[in-house]
Amino acid sequence: MPFIDRDFINDLSNRVDIVGLINKRVALKKAGKDYKACCPFHEEKTPSFTVVPSKQIFHCFGCGESGGVIDFIKKFDHLDFVAAVEAVAGESGISVVYDQTAKPVDSRFKRFNKLMNELSDFYQSQLKQSATKKKAIDYAKKRGISGSIAKRFELGYAPSGWRNLYANYKSNEESLRDLVTMGMLVSKKDKNAKGNVIAFGGRILSDKDNPKYLNSPETPLFSKSKELYGLYHCRKYSRRIDYILVVEGYMDVITLHQQGITSVVATLGTATTTAHLQTLSRSTDSIVFCFDGDKAGRAAAWKALQTSLPVITAGLVIKFLILPEGEDPDTLIKHESPKSFTKRIEEAQTLSSFLFDYIKSEVPFETIEGKTLFLEKSALLIHQVSYPIYRQQLIEGVAQTIGQDVSYVEKALNQSKMITCIINYPSLVNDPESSGVIEERAKKIPKSDVLMELIHSAQIEPDITKEALIKPYENKNNIFLRLKKLSVMEPFLSENEAKIEFMSALTAAENHQQRKTTKASILSAKTKAQEKEIVDDISRRKLSSGYKKS
Ligand SMILES: [Zn+2]
Repeated sequence: MPFIDRDFINDLSNRVDIVGLINKRVALKKAGKDYKACCPFHEEKTPSFTVVPSKQIFHCFGCGESGGVIDFIKKFDHLDFVAAVEAVAGESGISVVYDQTAKPVDSRFKRFNKLMNELSDFYQSQLKQSATKKKAIDYAKKRGISGSIAKRFELGYAPSGWRNLYANYKSNEESLRDLVTMGMLVSKKDKNAKGNVIAFGGRILSDKDNPKYLNSPETPLFSKSKELYGLYHCRKYSRRIDYILVVEGYMDVITLHQQGITSVVATLGTATTTAHLQTLSRSTDSIVFCFDGDKAGRAAAWKALQTSLPVITAGLVIKFLILPEGEDPDTLIKHESPKSFTKRIEEAQTLSSFLFDYIKSEVPFETIEGKTLFLEKSALLIHQVSYPIYRQQLIEGVAQTIGQDVSYVEKALNQSKMITCIINYPSLVNDPESSGVIEERAKKIPKSDVLMELIHSAQIEPDITKEALIKPYENKNNIFLRLKKLSVMEPFLSENEAKIEFMSALTAAENHQQRKTTKASILSAKTKAQEKEIVDDISRRKLSSGYKKS
């Protein structure tokens, strides 16, 4: 990885024309001192994307995307930081100053990379030369892997026993040590996004052997939670990337390439992580998770959904393709055809529809209690979404699903937000500026018994633990489970953020209540004149009390 001089980076945004660079990608219109356009990062009809040349920044009032010119190029062109700096400099006719003194983080990396390449060559040559190569070739044939795809993925063969490998290095102690560090004992390799060999993974050919697959352990070059198998090949062999399909195994990646589907990657024996999603979102706007239709597959899909919620930002679409039971991508594409498999990908379920279906299947949805449970379970998940537009869409979706209005759902969300904040930071209700006031205000919110009890306990014992705070509900199963879930919600806020969230949820709850009373009293008016009197009265009171904005 090249290192760019830090001063150069700091100075770069002052030396380039942010308007010109963005205008090349999005047509900007002058608006006073600033420039406007329809935001490229979210769908909109009236422009809320603004470029402020005086501050060298852009900001979207619709989706909240903002930053400097490097952030814009990174996001718009799907580049990593270094590539974005190079693009900004390059298009502005400035040559990048690299940091000549910076050393790679680990000086062993060069040696490791060389060794991994040698091993890769060794395994590939074994596929041609080994006396027992037939086993491997037969297996590849059975899976329908052609010679050219085997070459594309640099598939190799590791004959049983390690003497042959050892023989190549036995005179070189350093290499032997490195082999141990790299955890080398397997047969098919893995390339990272840059196309370097960083690890090997293997399918055991004899059915007697267990486990079926072996992969390199975590090494200085290879981290399972960050790497995606096939990303390099996806970028190299896809003419355009309309989506990236995320499958469970690397054999699926290889067989899908064989069938002409190249926008595909696999996680390596691990659940999808935030780091994976961030990597993917730099290459595509549309991620399609593909899972088997069995119980384990659905559980893994649900886990991927939970990981995705906090990561969703403007323009990123996440979908789910759950395969029919008993099928994996490899078998299904052979049973059907690449065309119908592609159609399945295109018709994959949206994240929200998958979310609602999944929760529905977990509760007795036809009953009133079931709908309440549905609402509460959804609320827990909606709290994890930080992108406001998407959050609003989910709220609307929940309202529609349970046949209630949006404000009803928002009210429930406010309640669970306040409860989450208190459970995690009981002391926030004892803030000298607001304690007492909080209790008074919360009291006026209807159906807030649990909230009031929690506020009370927290006031009596400010350093009470989470567990002690919810213990009184142990015998009330439903409430207890709900509180327990709210108490472990991740990712959580800092104490200060929690305080702000709590107060804004409280204000929102009050405003809801106020709007409801207003509506009720207007409806109670018997004549037009009476109605006018009530409305006038309300607006006078609003003016005098300083109506709180929600
Ligand atoms: Zn936007």
